[in-house]
Amino acid sequence: MNERIIIIGSNGQIGTELAIALRAKFGPQHVVTSDIREPQLPDAEGPFEIIDVLDRKSLHTLFTKYHPTQVYLLAAMLSATGEKYPRQAWDLNINGLLNVLDLSLEYHVKRVFWPSSIAVFGPHSPKANTPQYSVMDPNTVYGISKLAGERICEYYHTRYGLDVRSIRYPGIISWKAAPGGGTTDYAVHIFHEALKNNRYACFLSPHTALPMLYMDDAIRGTLALMDAPTEALSIRSSYNLTGVSFTPAMLADEIRKHLSEFTITYEENDPRQAIADTWPNSIDDTVAQREWGWKPRFNLSQITEDMLKNLKGKNTI
Ligand code: NAD
Repeated sequence: MNERIIIIGSNGQIGTELAIALRAKFGPQHVVTSDIREPQLPDAEGPFEIIDVLDRKSLHTLFTKYHPTQVYLLAAMLSATGEKYPRQAWDLNINGLLNVLDLSLEYHVKRVFWPSSIAVFGPHSPKANTPQYSVMDPNTVYGISKLAGERICEYYHTRYGLDVRSIRYPGIISWKAAPGGGTTDYAVHIFHEALKNNRYACFLSPHTALPMLYMDDAIRGTLALMDAPTEALSIRSSYNLTGVSFTPAMLADEIRKHLSEFTITYEENDPRQAIADTWPNSIDDTVAQREWGWKPRFNLSQITEDMLKNLKGKNTI
């Protein structure tokens, strides 16, 4: 298959691993990575371009140079950082998306991937097994921008026929690159601190349950959605998707099975708690299961084992 792929925002937590997977699948020269900053991990293989997704002119130059068949847009400001800079978060998350959708139409891009988030749900959404369709009243600028982005994606599909596909990622757990300022970051930091100091001060309360997904599953799910036949897909806003739901206390118990001395404390009044309180505890992803065969492979104990195994000996963040 002669694909030409561009990833925008490729240096972050997800882009770092998505680039590796896409290059393994399509060949390094077929996948252009791009970001507003230089890559943190040395990446010898494949082209890289510095790009600001808000700069339409240089984005245009990028599309002219590579004529992509697929575009993955990962540049965004995440939930916790977005609450610090609401205006910039809206600008990046919405205008970045519109720039990419417009250019994708102009350059006849075959498929576009843009991730949404469980942050599209809000205080009045059902908390347990949150369904694909429900009340959605997000109250963070991140969630509001993701919900608006979903509506825009569906609009570009219906109105202009753009083949845009999306997943509402839950919290993503991974060890290769650091998380980028979200509410679920604790579930990554905890492993680094456990290995470094045998203790962790958690910014969420012990019983805050949130849906999570291991990076291997997130990448596999993303590639599966992008490979799915068009006629199989009924959703052009964004698919609910989940791996496993757990609380900080459950994760600490699991870590203690490997590091018996590990202790956890809980900090009160962190602003991320208020965000987490409005999000689902668990997600119903039966539509993704039915339509494109989604099934996660990693449960809590497998995630814990794999994270500790891979982070041992690695410089912690
Ligand atoms: P991240 O913050 O780790 O990475 C985002 C990347 O975008 C960074 O490398 C950053 O340098 C780059 N970027 C920022 N501004 C840019 C600009 N103007 N132009 C070009 N690049 C720019 O984020 P991530 O965790 O990899 O998330 C990727 C996507 O997945 C985002 O849309 C995010 O909302 C979504 N998502 C992530 C999670 C998660 O747990 N990581 C959960 C739900 C949804």
